[in-house]
Amino acid sequence: MAALFLLFSSSLYLLACFPSFPSVYADAGRPQPFQTPINRDLYHSGTDLIEKVESLVHRHPDKLTVETLKSGTGGYNADVTVVTYGQSGNQSDDKSKSRILLDFGQHSRELITSELALRIVSILGEEQFLPGMDHDSLNLENLVIKLVPLENLNGRKLVEAGKLCERRNGRGVDLNRNWGVDWGRKEKDYDPAEEYPGTAPFSEPETKIIREIATSFNPHIWVNVHSGTEALFMPYDHKNSTPDGLPGQRMRALTEELNMVHCHGHCKIGSGGTSVGYLAHGTATDYMYEAVRVPMSFTFEIYAGDKTLNEDCFKMFNPVDQTTFERVLDQWCATLFALFKLGPREIDVHSTKMENSLDQADNRVDVHL
Ligand SMILES: [Zn+2]
Repeated sequence: MAALFLLFSSSLYLLACFPSFPSVYADAGRPQPFQTPINRDLYHSGTDLIEKVESLVHRHPDKLTVETLKSGTGGYNADVTVVTYGQSGNQSDDKSKSRILLDFGQHSRELITSELALRIVSILGEEQFLPGMDHDSLNLENLVIKLVPLENLNGRKLVEAGKLCERRNGRGVDLNRNWGVDWGRKEKDYDPAEEYPGTAPFSEPETKIIREIATSFNPHIWVNVHSGTEALFMPYDHKNSTPDGLPGQRMRALTEELNMVHCHGHCKIGSGGTSVGYLAHGTATDYMYEAVRVPMSFTFEIYAGDKTLNEDCFKMFNPVDQTTFERVLDQWCATLFALFKLGPREIDVHSTKMENSLDQADNRVDVHL
């Protein structure tokens, strides 16, 4: 039984943002395991991080803009801050640019992802620089980048108040199970303390806001940034396969290159559903690929903590010392800026195939399976 439990725990760990963990709150009678507290010297609070992003943007109005989108339902409200880089306001200029949408902080316990978002905004504003790279060599002039630094601010506040293993939003819904592709199907090991998908697809204001950003912006590249393992995942999360044909080949080639150059070959690649051995239903990346028709849709997992830890969630999902913290931010800034350079080349936004793909996006429909 003990062996079975260990097997179960370790396999769940590998699932990172897919997984379930035994709930720390489930058994009040047993001794509580040690939980490493949030290192406040390294990590901002969610509110401070958003304030820092906003003031950074306001120092560089020529490059960056910021807005806060609001949505609510049944007395539950969410604010989502969105940063935009490179929008000129001239529609014909912007139409020829590649559009990239990045989402951070969807799972509230994965604090490191929003710190990465802040670092990226700082590099875009030229207040910080990639090690060994000058700004001009980043080739950003033909890009519009939209970036959500912290999708799940309500959930983040619960983590900061001591629920260090919380990954859901402020009312218990897993925002990476609340999307309309293959929504609501449950694996036999499904744990509602982790993966509750909500009452319906898009029941949650945070999900509605991200969908609205995606459908109006119509990106060529989507990246959902998580932590818990190190991986460069492509669709699908809800089945054991990757997309057929050219789109699948392009995403695979790109993730293979990023893995070799920036992850020393040790990141998992392939589909989320295949690579973690566990299917996830109603995920954002599957929706972006299937319904919004984003030709390159990814989930990047940026940090794997010590897998022998049990319920020590801050340490399982986030670096706790400054050296590792800086190494993770440097590595994944380099990975994302490499994606900004290589991705548009790979899809060639001016090609006929791309135009066909965008035409399909204009006819998009919600898929509620
Ligand atoms: Zn996650």
